[in-house]
Formats: sequence, C-alpha cells, structure tokens
Amino acid sequence: MSEVLNVEELFGSKVFTLGKMKERLPRSVYKEVKKIMEQGGELSPAAADVVAKAMKDWAVENGATHYTHWFQPLTGITAEKHDAFVTHPDEEGKMLMEFSGKELIKGEPDASSFPSGGLRATFEARGYTVWDITSPAFLKEDAVGVILCIPTAFCSYTGEALDKKTPLLRSMEAISVQALRIVRLFGNKEATKVVASVGPEQEYFLVDREKYLQREDLIFTGRTLFGAPAPKGQELEDHYFGTIRERIGSYMKDLNIELWKLGVTAKTQHNEVAPAQHELAPIYETANIAVDHNQLVMETMKKVAGRHGLTCLLHEKPFAGVNGSGKHDNWSLGTDNGVNMLDPGDTPNENIQFLLVLACIMKAVDTHADLLRQSAADVGNDHRLGANEAPPAIISIFLGEQLEDVVKQLVETGEAAHLLEGGKLETGVSTLTDLEKDATDRNRTSPFAFTGNKFEFRMVGSADSIGSPNTTLNAIVAEAFCEAADILEKAEDFELAVHDLIKEYMTKHQRIVFNGDGYSDEWVAEAARRGLPNIKSMVEAAATLTTDKAVKLFEKFGIFTRVELESREEVTYETYSKSINIEAKTMIDMAKKQILPAVIKYTKSLADTVIAVKEAGADASVQADLLKEVSAKLAAAKEALVKLEKLEQEAAAMEDIKKQAFFYKDEVFAAMTELRAPVDELEMLVDKDVWPIPTYGDLIFEV
Ligand code: ADP
Ligand code: MG
Repeated sequence: MSEVLNVEELFGSKVFTLGKMKERLPRSVYKEVKKIMEQGGELSPAAADVVAKAMKDWAVENGATHYTHWFQPLTGITAEKHDAFVTHPDEEGKMLMEFSGKELIKGEPDASSFPSGGLRATFEARGYTVWDITSPAFLKEDAVGVILCIPTAFCSYTGEALDKKTPLLRSMEAISVQALRIVRLFGNKEATKVVASVGPEQEYFLVDREKYLQREDLIFTGRTLFGAPAPKGQELEDHYFGTIRERIGSYMKDLNIELWKLGVTAKTQHNEVAPAQHELAPIYETANIAVDHNQLVMETMKKVAGRHGLTCLLHEKPFAGVNGSGKHDNWSLGTDNGVNMLDPGDTPNENIQFLLVLACIMKAVDTHADLLRQSAADVGNDHRLGANEAPPAIISIFLGEQLEDVVKQLVETGEAAHLLEGGKLETGVSTLTDLEKDATDRNRTSPFAFTGNKFEFRMVGSADSIGSPNTTLNAIVAEAFCEAADILEKAEDFELAVHDLIKEYMTKHQRIVFNGDGYSDEWVAEAARRGLPNIKSMVEAAATLTTDKAVKLFEKFGIFTRVELESREEVTYETYSKSINIEAKTMIDMAKKQILPAVIKYTKSLADTVIAVKEAGADASVQADLLKEVSAKLAAAKEALVKLEKLEQEAAAMEDIKKQAFFYKDEVFAAMTELRAPVDELEMLVDKDVWPIPTYGDLIFEV
C-alpha cells in the first residue's frame, strides 16, 4: 500500500495565503490588505509593519532564516538575493529576528548587472523591487535552507520597468479599465474589474543526468548541437499519452507534491509526442500569479529532476528531428461578478456582447500580429516556429466551424440567423452513451485558437516567461476595446451602432481567420496573399517593438514608454548574440577536443587494419573504402570548423548590436549548421565505442 497523501492539507502549506493572513492579522489590517488586493492602493506604513511581522513569524515557524525579493528581470528567469532576518545583537549579545514593513515593501538590489538595454546607459544603476501584494509570498526550501520569497516588480531609479512583471501589471489594469467599459455598455453595473486569466501548459524533456553531464552542449546551451537521429523517432506515435514509466512517474509525483505545497494547482500530466517529452498543466488563475507560478513550475521541474538522477530540459528544441517544446498560453477575460467575456453561450450568433468582444479580438490580433509574434520570440523558439511541428511564424486565428460560420454570415448579410449545431456523437456501440458533440473540432496547427471559452496562444516557447505574451495580449485587446467603447458610448442608437461596428470589424479583419492546416506550405503562400506578416526569427521580430504603431499602443495605456520599448529591442539583440555565441563556442570546443580527436583515432585504427589485413594477404577494400569515406567527412568537418571559428571571432568583435545579431543569425548560425552536417554523418559511420558523447538513442530512449 502506498502512503496516503493528504493533498488538501499539503496544498498551499508553503504559501502565506489570504487564509493565513486572516488568522494572523488584526481584523482591520487584514481588511486593508484585502481591499488593496482587490482595488489597488497603498498599504499604510503601520499596516505594512504588522503584515511584515506576521509574515516573518509564519516563515520562521516554518524554518525560514532569510527573506528575498523575488523578481523577474529581462533574462526571462527569476532573481533573488537573500537577506537573513538577523539584526544587531543587543549589548548582552542577544539577537532577535526581525523584518519590517519597509523591508517587505521595498528592496534595492544593484540593477547594473541585469540586462536593461539602453536604460542602464541613460539612467542610474539603482534599481528597486516593489512588493506585488496581489501575488502571495511563499517559502522556498532547498539546500540553502528555507527562504521567504516575496514576489516583486523591478524598476529603475526613475521608474522604468526593468522586468517582465511591471508591464504585465500595467497591462492588466489597462485591460480591466477598457473591458469594464464594454460590459457597462451591455448593462453590467455590478462588475468592478475585469481580470485576465491564464493557464499555461508546460512541455519539458527529461534525460538521464549522468548522460547529460557527458554532453557539453546540453550543459552550456540546453540543446544538442550535434547528434544523428536515432533509428527510431516519434513516427510510431507511441509516446503521446503513453503509459508513464516508473522513473518518470516517481518524478511527476514528487513534482506535483512540491508544486501543491507552493500553491500551484498542478492538474494534468502526460507523455508528449517526442520520446522523453512530457507536459504539465496547472489550473488557470489571475495572469500575474500565473506568470509567477509558471516560473516556479520551471524552477521546480529542474530542481526535482536532480533528486531523481534526471535533468529537465526546458529548451524549445533540445533534439533535432523530434518535436520541440512549447507552452500553450490559455487566456480569457472575466468580470469580478462571474462573467467570462469569452464565453459564447449556447447561441453565440445572438450573443451581441460576445460578438463584439470577438470582433475586437480579431481587430487586435490582425492589427498587431507582428507584436504578438514578437512576444513569443526567444532564441530557442526560432527552431520551432514554422518548422512543421509548431504553428508557423504567421499569426492567424482559429475560430472553428461554428464561429467561422457566424462571422461569415455577419460579414455577408449583417445578420447571423442560424447556427451550425454539434449534433450527437454516435459510436455505433450500444453500450456507450451517445454524447453531445462540440460544434467545433480542435485545430492543433493554429497559433491562436479559440477553444470554447478562451483563446489558446500556442506560439510561446517552453523556456520563455509568459510575461510578454500576456502583456501583449492584454495591451492589444485593451486598445481595441477602447476604440470600440469610444464609438459606442457616444452612439445615439446603441443596438444599431454595435451591430454596424461588429460587421465593420469582422469584415475588415476577416483575413486573420484561418481554420485550415497551419503547417502546410499552401498556408504560407495564402497568408502572403492576404498580406499577413511572416516574421521568421527573433531578431527580425525585435524591431516590431519600436514601430510608431507599437509605441502609440503601449504609451497610450501606460504599459511601456518608448524608452522601455527601445531597451527591450536592444536586450533582444544582445540576448540573441550572446546565446548564439555560446552555442558556436561550445560547438567549436566539442568538435576540436572531443569529436575530431575521436575520429582521428578511429581513422588510425582503420589504417592499421587495412595494412594488417593486406599483409595477411586478404582483401582490405571494405576497410579502405570506409577509411576513405571517414577521412573525407573528417576533412569536411575540419573545414567547416575553421570557417565557424573565423566567423565567430568576426561576430564577437562587431560593435553595432543590431548588425551583430543579424550576423550571428545569417552567418554564424549557418556555419554551425554546416559543421553539424558532416559530424552527424560521421556519427553514423564511426564505431559506437569510439564516439565520445551519448547519442540521441542513449539520451531519449533510455531514460
Ligand atoms: P489541452 O487539452 O488543450 O491540452 P489542458 O487541460 O492541458 O488542455 O490545458 C488547458 C489549460 O487551459 C489549463 O491550464 C486550464 O486551466 C486552462 N483554462 C481552462 N479554462 C480557461 C479559461 N477560461 N481561461 C484561461 N485558461 C483556461
Ligand atoms: Mg495540454
């Protein structure tokens, strides 16, 4: 019998939840905190002291020795600097653990070593972390002890956002204000805010840690830079939803427990398409908390893997030739009186509020397709988007048959008189219940799919923060809502005006709707005919941040200033160049010190064999042919290596960061591919015992 897990008790045990605050805080302070969480505002210094003390007492009771302001700089991962609760001892040498309201609310890490783009040059190095009262504090427990983590936003001395969270919080306020205007138009007087909810499905790979440690490329870059395909890939489709192996199962169990303790609602787990690939999905929650929790999910995945002799790879494309990993960002908008604005109800054709929301989202996504694409750009994702396994780099919306038909009717006649019905699902087996069928099948190839009562943005990379995608979604939809509300609030005849507006938006932006196969070449051609942007890489996408259109959008809603956008464009170039540089140097190192020497040794043994066989009077032509073939590929590899070394040096010396990033993409990256080809061919020719690193077969089939 396995031990009974009390999940209800476990859940949130390491979180300073609202429930714990209620228990531990005086009623008035608790009410003040709750009010600020719901409506915004500032905690009084006296109340902050009380909250800090209660938080510290709870943390210390649970073993904490330190606290940290936990934040999300532009590196895409989280940052923390620990401070002990230790204070000055009194004259008798006695020390009391303390934590003040000031320390809770504000921190001051040195900002100069975080990526900041132009912001650092223009402004001071001083940076501040500010408590995000809406995301609960939690305890992290590992070898360093128990640390109280306080989720914070990170800004410069002059208030520029240096992180992913500040703009997200700003965008949440913007969408709330504008979406409220929409629901008010339809008579909803009770709602006081609209909340963006997010549920991210996280894909990941697990490999054996011992084997991982034998591959420099995995250690330094998170992906394999060399590697011939294993005899078996994912063609049998036997991994997706397959039985979870014991070792992986025990990992998943531990992972769930750790996440539940942290208040993360880990819900769904399964094997994914590629061998050694898996997925975890939590239940959706308020966007900023979902972003924080997704960071915790990624961190915890890595940490728990170590305990099982495994390594978790979050890179978007750890292995060539099998599927990479993404993160489906499920997004919806709900009022605080329980209305999901993306819920079409039973008769979407008659649900005018829903149709207006849909029309606005079509407009937003069409107008800012470039920005949405950019929001999912990261170095690893360049390998996935458009590579026949993930949506192409072209943004389009999947609505499903039923809604697409409604849109079509509205565009053609201004009315949507009828509705395609789902009907009954008949299995032909009398003992199986006939089910009501959804009116729409799923479409796995669309980057932005309507899935019942939410949109699923499927472009996001597995290793990336979901901060930017959700900031962008909130921003672009806020703009469309704002423009619609500006017109409709002034309308004399609301019914007529809203009807006209829906028709106008849907007609103008119908080109963004595509229900077909997003992986097909026909779609790429069709999208070009429709004039939809196809931005193939992260560096090409970077400039979309600073177009006049983008600056106008983000400045209007106070989400980013021009300067903040420029800094993010700059950081994108830097990040790309640095990452490719590391990859190039790792390849050079592996080729020079591991692969070429192994192949050279192998040619020596082949040559010895040829001589010995000949001397013995037998036919050595097979051995001689193999030697020739291996030597030729060795020469090709050497030539490609020399070229890569030269280009890498040239790239590293470049000064214009934008030109440099493009050079890395067009020249260095191409040279890496040229080096990989002969090396992978050599791997197929050379004796397995001689090959210096674990192969794809070792890595993904023997976990
Ligand atoms: P799929 O079948 O698409 O793989 P999963 O169950 O793996 O679905 O994940 C779906 C995700 O969408 C979950 O995180 C779920 O909580 C989230 N989700 C469900 N409804 C909503 C909603 N209204 N808004 C945002 N996210 C939602
Ligand atoms: Mg899923």
